[in-house]
Amino acid sequence: MNPEAAAPRLALSGSFSTRPISVLAIQLRSLRNNSKNENTSTSLVPVREKSTAVAAAKPSAAASSKGEYIVTKLDDLVSWGRTTSMWPMTFGLACCAVEMMHFAAPRYDMDRFGVVFRASPRQSDVMIVAGTLTNKMAPALRKVYDQMAEPRYVISMGSCANGGGYYHYSYAVVRGCDRIVPVDIYVPGCPPTAEALLYGVLQLKKKIKREKRIKIWYRK
Ligand code: SF4
Repeated sequence: MNPEAAAPRLALSGSFSTRPISVLAIQLRSLRNNSKNENTSTSLVPVREKSTAVAAAKPSAAASSKGEYIVTKLDDLVSWGRTTSMWPMTFGLACCAVEMMHFAAPRYDMDRFGVVFRASPRQSDVMIVAGTLTNKMAPALRKVYDQMAEPRYVISMGSCANGGGYYHYSYAVVRGCDRIVPVDIYVPGCPPTAEALLYGVLQLKKKIKREKRIKIWYRK
C-alpha cells in the first residue's frame, strides 16, 4: 500500500475516533455553563435590585399622579363652568330657525340649562346654524364665527345645514355648513323638532365635559 495514500485515510479514521470524545467535552462544557447560568438566575440579588428600583421609582409616580389629579379637577371645574353657561349665537337662516325659537321659548325653557341666546358673537360660545346656507351668506357666517371667542362650538341644525338638504343640487346653496365652519354636533331632520335641538345641546354638553385641555397642556 502506498504510504502517501494511506496517510489521509488514517487521519480521517483518527478524526472519526476522536469525534465522540470532543462532542462529549463540548456537551460537558455547555452543561457546566448552563448550571452556572442557572445559579446566577436563581440568585436573589437581581430580584432584590429590581424591587428596590421599583420602590425608588414609586414616589415620583405618586407625585405625578397628584399633579394629574389636580389638573383633572381643574378641567372638571372649567368644563362645569362652560357646560352650565352655553350662550348660543343665533344664526337663523331659514325655516329651521322657527324651531330654534320654539326651543328658546318657555315651553322648553333652555334657561334652566344655562342656554341664553345672545345677539353678539363676542359674548357667545356656541353657534347654532339653523337653516339653508347659501353661497352668498357663507362669508358672513364665517366672519361671525371668527368673531366668536375661543373655545367655540357649532351645532348644525337641520338637513340644509348638515348637507344642503332639499337644495343639495342647487347652484346657490352650500352643501353643508361644515364646508365653512367646523361642526361639533349635527341635528338631523327637516326641520328637527325643538326636542331634537335640545338633545343636540345636551350632546354638546357631554362633549365639552370630556375635554381635558389643561391635562393635555400638563402632559406636554
Ligand atoms: S332643513 Fe328643512 S326646515 Fe330646515 S331650513 Fe332646510 S328646508 Fe327648512
